[in-house]
Amino acid sequence: MNQSLDNKTLKQMDRDHYLHPFSNLTEMKETGSRIIERAEGVYLYDSEGTKTLDGFAGLWCVNIGYGRDELADVAAEQMKQLPYYNSFFGTTNPPAAELAALIKDVTPEGFNHVFFTGSGSESNDTVVRMVRRYWQCQEQPSKKYIIGRHNAYHGSTIAGASLGGMGYMHKQDEGLPMQFVDHIEQPYWFAEGGDLSPEEFGLQRAQKLEEKILELGAENVAAFIGEPLQGAGGVIIPPSTYWPEIQRICNQYDILLVSDEVICGFGRTGQWFGCQHFGYTPDLMSVAKGMTSGYLPMGGVIVGDKVANVLVEKGGDFNHGFTYSGHPASAAVAVANIKIIRDEELVEKAANDTGKYFREQLATFADHPVVGEVRSIGLVAAIELCANKETREFFPNQGDTGSLCRNFALQNGLVLRATADTMLFSPPLTISREEIDELIAITKQSLDFVA
Ligand code: PLP
Repeated sequence: MNQSLDNKTLKQMDRDHYLHPFSNLTEMKETGSRIIERAEGVYLYDSEGTKTLDGFAGLWCVNIGYGRDELADVAAEQMKQLPYYNSFFGTTNPPAAELAALIKDVTPEGFNHVFFTGSGSESNDTVVRMVRRYWQCQEQPSKKYIIGRHNAYHGSTIAGASLGGMGYMHKQDEGLPMQFVDHIEQPYWFAEGGDLSPEEFGLQRAQKLEEKILELGAENVAAFIGEPLQGAGGVIIPPSTYWPEIQRICNQYDILLVSDEVICGFGRTGQWFGCQHFGYTPDLMSVAKGMTSGYLPMGGVIVGDKVANVLVEKGGDFNHGFTYSGHPASAAVAVANIKIIRDEELVEKAANDTGKYFREQLATFADHPVVGEVRSIGLVAAIELCANKETREFFPNQGDTGSLCRNFALQNGLVLRATADTMLFSPPLTISREEIDELIAITKQSLDFVA
């Protein structure tokens, strides 16, 4: 759409009428918003003409980079052909059917079905209803509890926020977490590992799941849900001992294992799905973000045979779904996007090519005076800022140094995100070596600035 209003008018309209998500609404009334007008490759352009490298791929989602005409073209074509029709009551549409089969081709063996949603939060809401339906069909209706983790993020709907363990979200809203949801501690070695080695700590934190199952009674527990690595929590990469132990416990107590792949899915970790990186096999995977690279909203729950066969063979009615489940234009965009990820070998690039280069360059910051730890996998990473790297002691007033660092980077041409004092990176998978050099140079200036 060509812009018909001048920027001053738009900023005023925004300030007066737009309530922004996850924002300080009081502050924004004063500060207003920066208008991002267009984007190309890994660069954003705002209404002042400022060019900024997007080191965060929007919100961990623009995996194939901005400005891909192929996606705009398939969306326009599909909107002309069939902009919308529901997939309830015995109908489907060509892109949704093609997408379901294409997803099967890129997922690990044993995943042959998908349920479409409009977002990651809706995917996790679907998980809740689907796992409970599964246990009803298995004549074990008391299996209702879903166990998540503190400091996990699973979305912003009531179910998503409940499964997640973000204290500030629970605090804002009495009644969260909802009934039959519980949490265990997270595998955050840098902050909570104490004197244990990462491997010992990973095992110990996984065993918290066993303790919780025994406390609740295995006959009451439906599933465990976890992100392969906690993204919004601070790119917390669990020690190698963690996931195998979680898998063992789920198997032993007959608990479904759900991998929230909303960030990790579709290449971010250098594998198609994060669970493949960490070597576990979930029963269900929630996805969104990289599924369409954010070009249109879409999510899904990819369902393994164990659950799908029960739902299909003896489940009958599954009373759940969304108006936009299997939306034709979103599905067409997802098909084109997944084909780009496959044909341009972006997963391989994130693992061994530009991803490797990115990780090597970031690792050089480990010796920087304010850096406690650098963690990375594929093309996702964190730099942990701290006051004392030997004792892993954080700065007082957690968040102040991270905000300073993030703001300095932004003023100097790079979008990063800060969770407290952890700097987060998740650039488009298409980023080149030269663009990585630019990202690294601005990061260095930003670290020097807060040192
Ligand atoms: N799950 C994870 C791991 C996420 O990171 C997010 C969003 O950041 C969600 C779920 C929620 O996705 P959405 O914002 O599309 O509802």
